[in-house]
Amino acid sequence: MLENYIQTLFPNLANIKIILGVTCQMSFIQRMAEGAKQLSERARGFGEFASDRAKDITKKSSELLELTRMKHELRKLEKEMENNLAGIGALYYQQQSGQADVGEELQRLLESTRELDMEMKELEEQISAMQPKPLICSDCGKEIPQGGRFCTYCGKQVTN
Ligand SMILES: [Zn+2]
Repeated sequence: MLENYIQTLFPNLANIKIILGVTCQMSFIQRMAEGAKQLSERARGFGEFASDRAKDITKKSSELLELTRMKHELRKLEKEMENNLAGIGALYYQQQSGQADVGEELQRLLESTRELDMEMKELEEQISAMQPKPLICSDCGKEIPQGGRFCTYCGKQVTN
């Protein structure tokens, strides 16, 4: 028996059974603790992964929200531009046909329409800069439709 053998080697160890039991228990507890540590490390790793993904998604959705807001704003400006141009037309007609002296009014409207035009161009640039860039075929230089795996013009496979 192992216990007897150990007792002959270490005669002053009184209750070898208890000691062996404690040792066994210790290593069991140690294994449990290590297992728990690994689990928590894995959980932490997954947590980091999940929060990175969440950050990514949040960033994407806030960009999308911003893009939608800007497009909405541009449509409002386009409507305003339509009204301005119609107004300019009406004032110009009145002036030309001698119905009323609207020169000053016409100048003001022309001025604000020019500003509106610049505002719209700026917004259009911002929108196109935020738009995902289309893929360009490395062979023929044509645009490849989103999600396409082959060039629709020359058939070259898209490599990234
Ligand atoms: Zn091509």
